[in-house]
Amino acid sequence: MTASRTRVALMGATGSIGSQTLEVLRRETDRFELVALSGGRRIEELAAVVNEFRVHGVGVVDETDRRRLSRLVPATVEIVVGQEGLRGLCAGAEVVVNAVMGFAGLPVTLATLEAGARLALANKESLIAAAPIVARARRTPGAEILPVDSEHCAIYQCLVGSSEPGHPDVAQLLLTASGGPFRGWEKERLATVTRSDALAHPTWTMGPKITIDSSTLMNKGLEVLEASALFGIEVDRIDVVVHPQSIVHSMVEFVDGSVLAQLSRPDMRLPIAYCLGAPERLAHHWGQLDFRTVLTLEFEPPDHAAFPALDLAYAAARRGGAAPAWLSAANEVCVEAFLEDRIEWVDIVPLVALTMDEYVDDPLTSLDAVIANDAQARRITHGNLPS
Ligand code: NAD
Ligand code: MG
Repeated sequence: MTASRTRVALMGATGSIGSQTLEVLRRETDRFELVALSGGRRIEELAAVVNEFRVHGVGVVDETDRRRLSRLVPATVEIVVGQEGLRGLCAGAEVVVNAVMGFAGLPVTLATLEAGARLALANKESLIAAAPIVARARRTPGAEILPVDSEHCAIYQCLVGSSEPGHPDVAQLLLTASGGPFRGWEKERLATVTRSDALAHPTWTMGPKITIDSSTLMNKGLEVLEASALFGIEVDRIDVVVHPQSIVHSMVEFVDGSVLAQLSRPDMRLPIAYCLGAPERLAHHWGQLDFRTVLTLEFEPPDHAAFPALDLAYAAARRGGAAPAWLSAANEVCVEAFLEDRIEWVDIVPLVALTMDEYVDDPLTSLDAVIANDAQARRITHGNLPS
């Protein structure tokens, strides 16, 4: 069995998705071989993983990290620095898990698809910012994207059997949202939100950026854009439903009125394992539900007035071109500023909107254009932050 193990690369290994992917791999050592890793900072942790899995190739962010890591791992381990090195690391793998946070994940997404491998994609920002470029890379023979994001993994599973481009048999995709920690809060109360309030998600434990995105509902807005790009379905056929229990991970309504859903307790190891193993399912029962106990599932519409990030995302989708890239870049800058206590929670989305006001249409036909648009949106957003 060892001879036929699937070669896996894990980019962003030291984060929330990264560490949960390692948990899956630890349980499946006969099936998967971890061949390459990357991580920013947390070098001791990265070294421990390299040594545990006997990984041959590692990517780090800068020269200081490279020097620190080289003292902690065998001399035979290849250590590459920066974005370009990641391309080589991804090249040897059959499955690449992209668990990097933010726009920095784009080289991993493109390198994996251009190498004709399976991309297990947690890094939604790369797909949102560069959708037309990613779509081109996705046409490489052998390339495929399996979504790790729980909503999109649910939809992917519900769409098995619906294979026509554009999914004409689908009436709409229904993305579920927990509603975050501030569900039901009025505008006045939202003005009092602190950093620790926003970092306390009711149902999921995640990295800081996506936790803040969940509190503003920008995460759901980004997920609408992600779903549209992944499944080739226009945003007018994508809706958001608040479902506080986070058990129904998303739904597909077909044109005959049938609705398919995927359910489990919230546990990211389940979609990660699905993306690694598909079409086989790995038998671990992560997130298993117990139907012998009372199970209540509630659904309600989102409050668009209190959480304007959703409408902002729909507007960016309808505008097309580089508008989603601007939205995502501006949001990254504002979330970072909030996490550094430079702006208030209530300022995050209005500051993103301010950047979007300055967006000038760009059809986004090249990778250079993606990088330039990302940089410009960041520059404008930084310019609007308090000094
Ligand atoms: P995290 O902050 O916990 O981890 C991010 C990882 O990326 C770390 O290993 C970090 O070192 C690395 N990284 C960050 N900046 C980098 C850079 N500039 N260059 C190279 N590496 C860098 O984040 P997370 O919560 O694991 O989320 C990762 C991605 O998965 C995000 O795109 C997020 O939206 C998506 N996602 C996460 C969850 C979740 O449950 N955490 C669920 C769905 C989707
Ligand atoms: Mg999600």
